[in-house]
Amino acid sequence: MKNKGKILIVSGPSGCGKSTVLSKVFEEIPRHFFSISATTRSPRPGEKDGVDYYFISREEFEKMMENGEFLEHAEFVGNCYGTPIKPIYEYADKGYTVILDIETKGFMQVKKKIPEAVSIFIAPPSLEELEKRLRGRGTEPEEKIKKRLEEALNEKQLINLYDYVIVNDDVDNAAKMILNILDKD
Ligand code: 5GP
Repeated sequence: MKNKGKILIVSGPSGCGKSTVLSKVFEEIPRHFFSISATTRSPRPGEKDGVDYYFISREEFEKMMENGEFLEHAEFVGNCYGTPIKPIYEYADKGYTVILDIETKGFMQVKKKIPEAVSIFIAPPSLEELEKRLRGRGTEPEEKIKKRLEEALNEKQLINLYDYVIVNDDVDNAAKMILNILDKD
């Protein structure tokens, strides 16, 4: 359909600054829809249900899976994450730019279902920097930080599957690059 909005998948290790970059991008796109995922992870201080995520129990998550309510879903560091399918197509049909912030396993599922989706991997300037940011956040126990760093190494193996890779060494630049990609594609 010619007036359909673009679907943008953004991945990158947790702690790479994705949310900060994306919030800059959103300021420049009035008609955007950011997909709010469902997760079984507990909220971090300041995170709000229905804004950052839909924080649900594992039972509720499994029910949503059984009912086919997810476009994709994956397990990440011991918790489940999934993209509610309905709003994605609704907003894309209305011409909105739809943005999904999901990890690599989810990206691969969406790419199969929506091949025209544009994908961007946001990489941290270095693993040392990533570790610093994850620890600086102070929201995760040491064991989870280690697991997230391991995941970052795993995810790095898959960056060549993305349409674009952006190194986030400057938030404004990274946001500009995403806006350029959206203009171009
Ligand atoms: P965090 O716990 O740091 O908020 O997110 C952990 C990872 O899960 C991040 O890489 C984030 O992009 C990813 N994630 C968030 N929502 C979803 C989702 O709906 N599906 C998938 N596959 N990954 C998600």
